Amino acid sequence: MKQLIVGEKAGFCFGVRRAVDMALKAAAQHGIVYTLGPLIHNNDVIDDLRGKGIIPADEPSQAEKCIIIRSHGVPDSTYREIEALGIECIDATCPYVERIHNTVRRYSSEGYDVLIVGDRNHPEVIGILGSANGRAEVVGNNEELEKLADSDKKFGAKSLIVVAQTTFDMCKWTDLQKNIKKHYTNPHFFDTICRATAERQNEASEMSSRCDAMIVIGGAHSSNSRKLAEICGSKCTTFFIENSDDLEGGNRERLLSLLSSSNDVKIGITAGASTPAYIIKEVHRTMSEIIKDEAVDAEFAAAIDQMERVRVYTGQRVKATVVAVNKTEAVVDIGTKHSGYIPAEELSNNPALAPDEVVKVGDVIDCVVTKINDAEGYVYLSKKQVDAQQGMEKVLQAKEENATVEGTVTNIVKGGVMVTSKDGARVFVPASQSGVPRNGKLEDLQGKAVGFKVIEVNEGRGRVVGSIKAAEKEASDAVKAKFWEELEVGKKFVGEVKSMESYGVFVDLGGVDGMVHLTELTWNRVKHPKEVVSIGDKLEVTVKSYDPEKKRVSLTAKKPEDNPWTKFTTEFAVGDIVKVQIVSITPFGAFAQIIPGVDGLIHISQISKERVTNVAQVLSVGQIVEAKITEIDEEKSRVSLSMKALLEDDGEEAADSDEAEDEE
Ligand code: SF4
Repeated sequence: MKQLIVGEKAGFCFGVRRAVDMALKAAAQHGIVYTLGPLIHNNDVIDDLRGKGIIPADEPSQAEKCIIIRSHGVPDSTYREIEALGIECIDATCPYVERIHNTVRRYSSEGYDVLIVGDRNHPEVIGILGSANGRAEVVGNNEELEKLADSDKKFGAKSLIVVAQTTFDMCKWTDLQKNIKKHYTNPHFFDTICRATAERQNEASEMSSRCDAMIVIGGAHSSNSRKLAEICGSKCTTFFIENSDDLEGGNRERLLSLLSSSNDVKIGITAGASTPAYIIKEVHRTMSEIIKDEAVDAEFAAAIDQMERVRVYTGQRVKATVVAVNKTEAVVDIGTKHSGYIPAEELSNNPALAPDEVVKVGDVIDCVVTKINDAEGYVYLSKKQVDAQQGMEKVLQAKEENATVEGTVTNIVKGGVMVTSKDGARVFVPASQSGVPRNGKLEDLQGKAVGFKVIEVNEGRGRVVGSIKAAEKEASDAVKAKFWEELEVGKKFVGEVKSMESYGVFVDLGGVDGMVHLTELTWNRVKHPKEVVSIGDKLEVTVKSYDPEKKRVSLTAKKPEDNPWTKFTTEFAVGDIVKVQIVSITPFGAFAQIIPGVDGLIHISQISKERVTNVAQVLSVGQIVEAKITEIDEEKSRVSLSMKALLEDDGEEAADSDEAEDEE
């Protein structure tokens, strides 16, 4: 049986497909665009692209408005040249190549010498060389390495990094690494060979060991295609062709001769990274005609189906692995031959987020296919739609369970705000449900993280209405319930003074207010709370009593350790004579301050030896007088004072001294 096998890894890699796609987009926008050098190493594709307005240019100055950097990348000097020309630059440098540029740029700035393993004439290597800020050399084989090491002892003597051209031969790279280690002390190797290239080479190697012949499709200038031909050629008869036309003439005769040599002939087909699927199809079709074997058709269908994996359809939900993220899109692998792109606006519902804030390389995400271009081999996807779908499911569940949903206010719209839930659902919150007071500004909510309740869902229209206010109320009720549950006399709080009245202040205890009466603010006598606190002050308070029914909490700000009565009783005793200040006058006597916080009463009968009928005629507020402590009532914290007792003492003392004089 004659068999044709098409390699699964054959054809466009994602970097090339991405560059072609970017060029097509640019041509659709500008009409004619220029690429700096041929976009890919395939003349058929170049001709095809030329017909679509994508023209190769040798110099940036040839471009009129817009120049496209191909996947190989360019030296830093070229970017500067383009900038100086003032034309638009569309950078289609493959992210894998860009990563090498960044590595070289960074290490060479830090003083490392750079050794690039690759073909010094290849545009990718020229571009990498141009991103080095210090010394950089290129070697393509062991001979070149020996020559470099012998001729320049200073290169790499201090520190050296080694990178490889993305399409360099894996075996040669491994071999060269060993040799580099012999010549240089502690070189840092960066394994920069592209996975796509390595996989394609491994597959070609494996296919060529079980096939009688291999057909390698690729441009004569494509280094990765030449490499494939080299690998296959070392194992079996190999035909290196650019397209199906090359299967005519001598190649056709050689193939016919091979096919007729045995009943069982296996021929493999692989293709370089710059070969589009339609050329592979054509080659396969031509080969089928050459073989003229019924079995081949079935094989062909299976092989092509395998190769293209046409199972992708619009609306299909797929798992995608993020392989690159840039400012405008995320590039993803969906496990088919297609290149997948998620434009920034399809990544998230939050327009403020940049693509790299939504996904990172290596993430596996759920997406939906929104557009397919099989001819060019790409698909567009949306993460946002899947998120919104999942978000809607979560929102419905939240409504059912009356759960609070977390989200971020992403837009201020007419009549309210739009909130994007953590799961990607877009929810409208009317101004009346925003929790912003009537005189407040909805704009203050922009970008804020909020919780909301789902109050209305219209699945058909995909409309969800939420209430931040309801979520806030629920949260506040929960806080209050917990507060009352845990409240007890003696519990201490530090709260903010929220309002003030002449009789005391109200303190926020964390969602619930408590009252500190004027007399409980301080041990000292004050006439108004403002003498000791201001609104906004933090106050240490202790619960004196509370009433959960009436939602009242009585607090004291007095601390037992500051109690002046304690100080008084330790320092003073009955019989002590004290200087006191009259603080108030009453019909039955005068109150006098002994120490701050402790007043004593001078009863009207204890003011003078003479009878006093009006206290105010004898004493006045502010007056300092001497009095004797005549009684201390510990239980009631009361002190009795007497001025009269001092007058009587004086009289007795005078009498005593008269008697003494008489005796003498
Ligand atoms: S071969 Fe690899 S590095 Fe080169 S363009 Fe393709 S994906 Fe990028």
